[in-house]
Amino acid sequence: MSHTVESEKQASLRCRACESGQVMIISKYRYFIMTSIFPVIVTVAIAFLFDLLFLLFIPALLLMNLMIAERKTPLLICQNCRKRSRGHLTKTANPHN
Ligand SMILES: [Zn+2]
Repeated sequence: MSHTVESEKQASLRCRACESGQVMIISKYRYFIMTSIFPVIVTVAIAFLFDLLFLLFIPALLLMNLMIAERKTPLLICQNCRKRSRGHLTKTANPHN
């Protein structure tokens, strides 16, 4: 009798392409941080090289990335075939579905 203990909470999620259960979830904030760090560093670098007024772009940049993150997350990345897809988290808090 096989009694597999699925310790990870995302164990129920499966890749749509290869049916692998090894799917990584990128949350909104992780996606936001991932997409924001590099542009912010570049903008800060440009600001110090050219004009500090470029720093004014940072809040707009962060806001834009936050909007993108809201749309694209939760992002599921399959660790088996590297396919990315937008997933719907099965939250236990939702009584419907
Ligand atoms: Zn896959």
